[in-house]
Amino acid sequence: MAFELAPLPYAFDALEPHMDARTMEIHHDKHHAGYTNNLNAAIEGTALVSAGIEDILAQVSKHPAGLRNNAGGYWNHHLFWNVMSPKGGGEPVGEVGDAIKKTWGSFDAFKEEFSAAAKTRFGSGWAWLVKQDGNLVVTSSPNQDNPLMDDAPVKGTPILGLDVWEHAYYLHYQNRRPDYVAAFWNVINWDYVNELYKNA
Ligand code: MN
Repeated sequence: MAFELAPLPYAFDALEPHMDARTMEIHHDKHHAGYTNNLNAAIEGTALVSAGIEDILAQVSKHPAGLRNNAGGYWNHHLFWNVMSPKGGGEPVGEVGDAIKKTWGSFDAFKEEFSAAAKTRFGSGWAWLVKQDGNLVVTSSPNQDNPLMDDAPVKGTPILGLDVWEHAYYLHYQNRRPDYVAAFWNVINWDYVNELYKNA
């Protein structure tokens, strides 16, 4: 069973002006499609063809870097599209909202730590909000790594992820990564993040 590229859960221009349509189209149809195709090519003819993506991530250190990068890219972007929505933004809701306030004292304090993780990740990578043994932690990772990988320095279940590769923002924001990070708060789908929190 090959992995499939799910369609974006909204139109390319649905997150304007925060995420521009051209970037969304290229990011999904070229980058995410590329990770998906390369993941399928990497597992073809191996025992991993019948494995789930999270099973692959949980043993990724035993396999070549090409599988690591493409399995991570496949999983990470699927999360990324779904934690955003044209109806997003505002304050976190439900159990995850309570947990964020309990952990950081306020939503603003959480925003500050997550934004700092996104802005200071050098080069290409991701910022994450992770549920780890029932607690929330903020971390970041290089390239297409994520906290589901068996050799991740901070492990757990990502419930919010922000892509800070230049391909995610350069067309619209050029070198201004902090502006892109600030815009992300306007599109976060907290209902979806809350569901991930409850199920993690
Ligand atoms: Mn990306």
